[in-house]
Amino acid sequence: MKKQKKKEINKIEKCVICESETDYFFNTPVSERRCYVEGVGQLCEKCYCHFFIKKKKDGI
Ligand SMILES: [Zn+2]
Repeated sequence: MKKQKKKEINKIEKCVICESETDYFFNTPVSERRCYVEGVGQLCEKCYCHFFIKKKKDGI
């Protein structure tokens, strides 16, 4: 029905690494997202911390 169509438009972005659902929808502007990496995509907070913040720490 019509409700299902609406749901498809507001798809939730999934983490590109672990595929868990993020807090953002497909139509959320990149500028309003956290944990979004250019050239990679949307990550969940866990993966973002693991792959990007941890690396920074190791560099210090
Ligand atoms: Zn993830």
